[in-house]
Amino acid sequence: MRAAWDEVYWLFGCSLIAEEARLYAEAGTDPDHPWRPHRVVERVEEARDAISLVLEPVDGHILPHRTGQYVAVAVDLPDGTRQPRQYTISSASGSAALRVTVKRVRGSDGAPDGQVSTWLHENAHVGTVLDVSQPAGDLLLDDSDDALVLISAGIGITPVAAIVDDLAQRRPDRPVHLFHVDREPETHALVADVRDRAQRLNDVRALTWYSASEAEGSAVRSGRMDLADVELPQTARVFLCGPLPFMQAIRGALVARGIAPERIEYEVFGPDRWARQPKSGAA
Ligand SMILES: Cc1cc2nc3c(=O)[nH]c(=O)nc-3n(C[C@H](O)[C@H](O)[C@H](O)COP(=O)(O)OP(=O)(O)OC[C@H]3O[C@@H](n4cnc5c(N)ncnc54)[C@H](O)[C@@H]3O)c2cc1C
Repeated sequence: MRAAWDEVYWLFGCSLIAEEARLYAEAGTDPDHPWRPHRVVERVEEARDAISLVLEPVDGHILPHRTGQYVAVAVDLPDGTRQPRQYTISSASGSAALRVTVKRVRGSDGAPDGQVSTWLHENAHVGTVLDVSQPAGDLLLDDSDDALVLISAGIGITPVAAIVDDLAQRRPDRPVHLFHVDREPETHALVADVRDRAQRLNDVRALTWYSASEAEGSAVRSGRMDLADVELPQTARVFLCGPLPFMQAIRGALVARGIAPERIEYEVFGPDRWARQPKSGAA
């Protein structure tokens, strides 16, 4: 029995190593030196506890990426450990530089502050050099004509910003529905950025909810995101990004509204516990 497990382990390990080698080869990355130093060329305070860092490769060799992908950023912490974390590239593919947008994770109920996000907020300024991995991830913008429904909560707006940027540059005729929920306007990262690019789209509907602030208007509401009275094209492709319970609730509501589960994709900003129990929230 133990030998069988050993074999499964090694087969799985070998296939991951082969996949990693393929990705490195595709990007021209030396597998012995997978980190590419990038210099922060711009830092933008996007919202309370959210910054964008625009990163340019020190060697001038831009890492190609596809819209929707993320990079890992590795930092050396004061305790001597080196910690990598993933950050979605919040700008479209083809941009001259990579932009990542980082929410500062503050500890609550006795839990410590997030290590890497805090370090980046306190130490990453124009001129700082960070180690960045090659882009990865398969939540990608497709090239079909299907309407897109982009649903995000909080810092989950980062892939939405990249997708809207891409569509504004390449596919302004593709119908887009943008639904976002944030705590309040002060915490709503990339709001102006997404709004500016959305204005270049020819068929776009946008609705924002603020859960902890009074807001009423044609495009903004108070409270939790509620899609009950919102028009949803049945053949749309849906992207979800936000905390897991939020995505589970929204996915359930979408499926109940008749959207086929295979049309709904999602990105989890942490270990994907949903993939291990995909039925939860699919009511
Ligand atoms: C594919 C992907 C894309 C992502 N994109 C983005 C993005 O665009 N923007 C973004 O801001 N983030 C993004 N993330 C999340 C990001 O990678 C980090 O997880 C996030 O920044 C937190 O990292 P940290 O080091 O600051 O927190 P960590 O130090 O990893 O802590 C995480 C949480 O664990 C808690 N914790 C730690 N230790 C303990 C303990 N001993 N007891 C109790 N609780 C503890 C902390 O309080 C905190 O809430 C993405 C993640 C993935 C996987």
